[in-house]
Amino acid sequence: MGKRIGLYPGTFDPITLGHIDIIERAVKLVDELFIGVAINQDKGPLFSLDERVEMLREQMDTIAGKSGVTITVKPFDQLLMTFAEEINADIIIRGLRAVSDFEYEFQMVGMNQALNEDIETVFLMADARYQSIASRLVKEIAKLDGDIRGFVPQSVAERLVAKYKANGA
Ligand code: ADP
Repeated sequence: MGKRIGLYPGTFDPITLGHIDIIERAVKLVDELFIGVAINQDKGPLFSLDERVEMLREQMDTIAGKSGVTITVKPFDQLLMTFAEEINADIIIRGLRAVSDFEYEFQMVGMNQALNEDIETVFLMADARYQSIASRLVKEIAKLDGDIRGFVPQSVAERLVAKYKANGA
């Protein structure tokens, strides 16, 4: 069998320790990993696409170095399955947090299987310490001046603080 290629898609607005934990697990399953950054303008992301990509890339060097797996951070704006086909992905990686993620993911997998039955979706769970982390909640805490250091890498925490200061929050 050839090289196994994985795709981990998300908005990553911003990357959290939960995402990093999933990526550290994903590299054990594939030879090459793409992190697909959904442009998602209609979701109204706090960070621009460039900022989200940059924050991801900053974190990936260490994981790529440790695992020997090539990690490529790549924005996408098309249908997930179309993007997965374009990069020749064999598997799509998703993280599962709580029961709340399940319903949505369950439906997505069903639809994606109908679109391309050769690409499997694999679900991974983060370490218990990181399971409750969600980008949305991290942003809410940062906005209200709370301590976010336990949820995101140091450099991301600094960017969040700066972002809300600049926004006058
Ligand atoms: P979305 O915008 O689709 O929610 P995110 O960028 O927040 O995507 O997350 C991308 C993927 O990472 C999703 O599969 C999500 O379930 C997963 N994920 C996010 N945070 C965690 C976490 N703390 N533990 C496990 N999986 C997570």
